[in-house]
Amino acid sequence: MASPFPVALPVSETRAHNDSPSVLMKVTTETSAKNQKILPQQGEPNILVTSALPYVNNVPHLGNIIGSTLSADVYARYSRTRNRNTLYICGTDEYGTATETKALEDGVTPQQLVDKYHAVHAKVYEWFQLGFDHFGRTTTPKQTEIAQDIFLKLHENGYLEEKSMTQLFCEQCTRFLADRYVEGICPKCGYDDARGDQCDKCGQLLDAIELVKPRCKVCSSAPIQKESRHMFLRIDNLQPLTEKWARAAAEAGGWSSNGRQITESWFREGLRPFSLTRDLKWGVPVPIKGMEDKVLYVWFDAPIGYPSITANYTDDWQQWWKNPDNVKLYQFMGKDNVRFHTVIFPSCLIGTKEPWTMLHHISTTEYLQYEGGKFSKSRNVGVFGDKAGELGLSPSVWRYYLLANRPETADSQFAWRDFIARNNSELLANLGNFCNRVLTFMKKYDLTVPEIPAGSELRTYKEGPLVAAPPAGEDGSASVIAKYVRDVNALLAQYIEAMEAVKIRSGLQHMMALSARSNLFLVEMGFDNTLFTERREQCDEVMLVTLNVIWLLSVLIHPFMPETCDSILKQLDAPPRAVPDDGRFQLDLLPGHRIGKAAHLFKRIDEAEEDVWRAQFGGSSDAKDAAKADAPAMSKKQAMKAAKAAKKAAEERNKVVVKNKTPELLDLEARVASQGDRVKQLKDQTKKEAEAEQKQKLEKETETELKALLEMKTELSELTSRLAKLEMDAEVPASAPAPQ
Ligand SMILES: [Zn+2]
Ligand SMILES: [Zn+2]
Repeated sequence: MASPFPVALPVSETRAHNDSPSVLMKVTTETSAKNQKILPQQGEPNILVTSALPYVNNVPHLGNIIGSTLSADVYARYSRTRNRNTLYICGTDEYGTATETKALEDGVTPQQLVDKYHAVHAKVYEWFQLGFDHFGRTTTPKQTEIAQDIFLKLHENGYLEEKSMTQLFCEQCTRFLADRYVEGICPKCGYDDARGDQCDKCGQLLDAIELVKPRCKVCSSAPIQKESRHMFLRIDNLQPLTEKWARAAAEAGGWSSNGRQITESWFREGLRPFSLTRDLKWGVPVPIKGMEDKVLYVWFDAPIGYPSITANYTDDWQQWWKNPDNVKLYQFMGKDNVRFHTVIFPSCLIGTKEPWTMLHHISTTEYLQYEGGKFSKSRNVGVFGDKAGELGLSPSVWRYYLLANRPETADSQFAWRDFIARNNSELLANLGNFCNRVLTFMKKYDLTVPEIPAGSELRTYKEGPLVAAPPAGEDGSASVIAKYVRDVNALLAQYIEAMEAVKIRSGLQHMMALSARSNLFLVEMGFDNTLFTERREQCDEVMLVTLNVIWLLSVLIHPFMPETCDSILKQLDAPPRAVPDDGRFQLDLLPGHRIGKAAHLFKRIDEAEEDVWRAQFGGSSDAKDAAKADAPAMSKKQAMKAAKAAKKAAEERNKVVVKNKTPELLDLEARVASQGDRVKQLKDQTKKEAEAEQKQKLEKETETELKALLEMKTELSELTSRLAKLEMDAEVPASAPAPQ
């Protein structure tokens, strides 16, 4: 599996850095090679991270990856950069009817099916560099042991109840038929090919025993009705305890609002007893006399995969899972999984009356869509995990794009144009440009970090953190360096705040803003050959500060793009560092330290690839086809439209572009975008409004909001040209050869 840690290179004699334990990362590839199991430590922060266990009968697509496994990976990696004891557990969920059905379709045994797909999942996640501490599966003896134990404790404590149910039984196949194994005539509309769970013609949800002339899906013979005994969880009796726990946990763990709402709605409706057992063969056997031929319901046993996979990692698994006072549990999933993690699984744990480690923070996502539609394996639309590698791009580019578009509060889109644009204008032009300019410039210094010039303000900082300059406006005389350091500290603080609250997209934005601010710093200092030849001391200061910012950036980047972090560490020849404990930037890479060889972090992607990739992976090309159809004979209206488009394209070309966006600019851009949405929304609303008075009111409001939008746009265009001019005045083009 991919390493959860940044790469620690062999230590060379040319290193000079602050090596205090608070500066360096505690666990790296080097220490982990000693193969010690990670266990929680008394009196230290201990973080247990899980991702929803992916169901094993398919290949995961990009939406599945960003929804849980990648998001959890980012948080676990972040937690390790804070030197917290961290364990990230995931694995495949392998039992249940869906696996049985799929195996039947494929003509293999369930075991063969899950073996095949477990390997497929593991390979995909490795390619995406998901650093699990252990990636396991639910079909293990430990799973049986722990699931049966929890089940029996619930029974002992009086939370299980035996009930009889009438079910369809196929005498030919000698088995009870799950709803999806039965077909027949719909009792509501007469459609003769309805499924046991739903009629595809009239959409009615059905119970298999309601079907007229039911038939077994496998052998087509008519099933009989037969009584079957099952064990029901009296979750209604557990509700008061679960509710009390959930309210406190939501508060303490800062649950997202959709997480809270979904949970509350279940409590409001009232929890109803449900059967924990199934008449299936593929699952954990029910540990009750007379029920050995039944299995535990897959949704009861799936979350038990978290502790059981941990138990396959270490015999001391209870130190993680039965240690509520010393371990904080963070769980990541798509929103459709919330109730199992906030209501059902916690109820089961509470019902055992044992001291389980309970959910602390839940992180849920909405859905990622593909080019305006859904991912579909059967229609061959969208990027599935096993194909992403075929484009020859670094996993970092994929991870960056998915995380920048993480559907945190609403559904988001995967779009090829945006994918390419973000690589070229953000990764390459912002982050890559900053690191590369500084690192290649080090040739002039024989790769060695210069001494702090005599009389430099940096001297006062040598023994400690750089002191932040006074806030803007309070002291206009603060030096360019002091102002830069103030901004570095502010952005670092915002990054930490966002990541602590598991606001991953925001954390990523602040990391990129720090890089953008650093590009601006180079511009402000007039960073070029003349600085080196004519103002050498200032040039030395720039190198000292920016090399240290690059080392700092490497650790902020690590959660999002581990490969990029490793590449920076190699270029710096520095060990993996931690996020500063006190949240303050300081000079930890010292004068005399010799860096390694500079290399490009990112590559430009040709815009022409957009069409190639869309053709390869599917997606709507309606717009393009329409444009082609227009070509031969153009109506007047079409000609006007074309002229307008040409004008817009020309404007686009002449537009001032700021390569290195400042936090201020990014913020203003975001505000313009959201104000634009607001105006558009109001216009739509006005159009739909039938009532005259209301319509007038809306029109008035639109006018006010539009005015505000135009003011913001003016402000934006002024700021943009100011920054662009600053860049043009001083910048060495990114494409120019490195100065010799
Ligand atoms: Zn019907
Ligand atoms: Zn049958």
